Amino acid sequence: MKKNYISQRNNSTLVAPSKIDLSYELPILSESNDIPNPQSEGLPKPKEKYDADIIVIGGGPAGYYAAIRAAQLGARTVCIEKGPLGGTCLNVGCIPTKALLSSVEALDTVRNAEDFGIKVNEPQIDVQVLMARKDKIVNQLVGGIGVLFKKKNVHHIKGIGRLVDRHTVAVSGDSGEQRISAQNIIICTGSEPAKLRLPGFEIGENVWTSNEALQFKTIPKSMLVVGAGAIGLEFGYTFQRLGSDVTIVELMPQILPAADTEMAFELHKHLEKKGLKILTNASVVSAEDTDSGKKVAIKTSSGDKFIDVEKILVAVGRIPVSSGFGFEEVGIKMERGRIQVNERMETSVPNIYAAGDVIGEPMLAHVAWTESVVAVENALGMDSKMSYKAYPACVYTNPEMASVGLTEEQAKEKFRDLAIGKFSYSHNGKAMGIGHANGFVKVISEPKYGEILGVHIVGPHATDLIAEAVVAIASEQTVDELMKAIHPHPTLSEPIQEAAMDTRGEAIHKP
Ligand code: NAD
Repeated sequence: MKKNYISQRNNSTLVAPSKIDLSYELPILSESNDIPNPQSEGLPKPKEKYDADIIVIGGGPAGYYAAIRAAQLGARTVCIEKGPLGGTCLNVGCIPTKALLSSVEALDTVRNAEDFGIKVNEPQIDVQVLMARKDKIVNQLVGGIGVLFKKKNVHHIKGIGRLVDRHTVAVSGDSGEQRISAQNIIICTGSEPAKLRLPGFEIGENVWTSNEALQFKTIPKSMLVVGAGAIGLEFGYTFQRLGSDVTIVELMPQILPAADTEMAFELHKHLEKKGLKILTNASVVSAEDTDSGKKVAIKTSSGDKFIDVEKILVAVGRIPVSSGFGFEEVGIKMERGRIQVNERMETSVPNIYAAGDVIGEPMLAHVAWTESVVAVENALGMDSKMSYKAYPACVYTNPEMASVGLTEEQAKEKFRDLAIGKFSYSHNGKAMGIGHANGFVKVISEPKYGEILGVHIVGPHATDLIAEAVVAIASEQTVDELMKAIHPHPTLSEPIQEAAMDTRGEAIHKP
């Protein structure tokens, strides 16, 4: 049943969402006595005194999703965004990187065409076309959010939002500053690439973050990537497949330090086979300018190394964007830049919520979406709680890697016994047919009831396949349910079913 927030209210004199004129200027309240007093711990002012029911600060995955969900529930919603809608994900994250990875996939398909009985000439890369394709996809999706806002009656204001008090946001845009007030505020200001404070690693022509790496004009001859998280691996893989000589330096003993160790090593093995050089237990120390780029000093477990590269990509994590917007001044508690929230996405200020990268790890668009819905629903009087039990983590290299639930290391800490099943893509007909029979599926369960604790996939289309495991873990399914569910044949999903069977030693196609 569709819930309508406004229709639940008594004596509402609010303008119905459909009547909001998207071109009108919101009233300036600065001289009005209606500005709520931040110090007041008394009852909130009547809702009619506010310009909107919800103001969302930020229009990335958390923000635009929150705004649409709020409008869907009947709230008068304003979304403040300074840049293009869609935030990191659409503009400089998930979408453009996947567009580039699709070009890489097309290139590899052509390179391997002879294996499939097709004779082709040596493929040529046209960087301009490749970038134009990426930009077109981004622009289409960014425009799509604008269309959704209009259709769903979200009022978008372009500008930088700053909290004046717990109900008021000052927005500075091209036409000056305006103040708007709302019953509830949802902060979704996102994150930005972390920088390395080491000599020679200042961002510039030869030292990039993921933002600069998405604007390349020519393919660098060589690249050093600092950090083997999802960003480092995806960019390192992209440039390596396009022809760069890529070395990835990772501080920890394994790539993707938070991932299941066995799966991280499986991915590492396949990426090295493709030609990526990966140094783990290693850290960069400094970089010096050279005629052709940078000379980087690296400390490794087997001594110091110096590598000459054209470009450096710094991919050492992301940090929340949370300072300079009045958050702490109105009493919002933060820890190292992250806004502190509870499972209802409430901050320490009762009517202010936060969602997405600004609250810290896991910084994933699909997690941000879910957090934002929880925030909105609670802001509108519903009772929603965030659960991180079954969120997927994905890496879009080839093979891909995707995980949900506990790693084997985490499961061992929680359970005395485990039943673990594995099934390789080398025994899967579909994977062989498409020429990507690499990797395997691992299902981790507890043996007493057979509850599925974790599913990890390194293999073709792992990031699409993981959705089945997300549902299984979110709904507390057992391995028996997973193995008895009829999976389509021939598909890449069969190894999930077989790995579930293997937890009982009953995989049919396992030699
Ligand atoms: P990350 O924190 O996941 O990985 C950074 C890596 O850099 C870590 O492995 C860390 O050990 C290493 N590192 C840090 N300092 C180092 C140093 N001085 N020398 C060598 N290594 C060093 O961060 P990320 O990969 O930049 O990604 C940021 C966020 O964005 C993450 O939350 C990530 O999950 C998310 N993201 C997700 C996807 C996806 O879902 N496919 C893609 C991109 C980004």
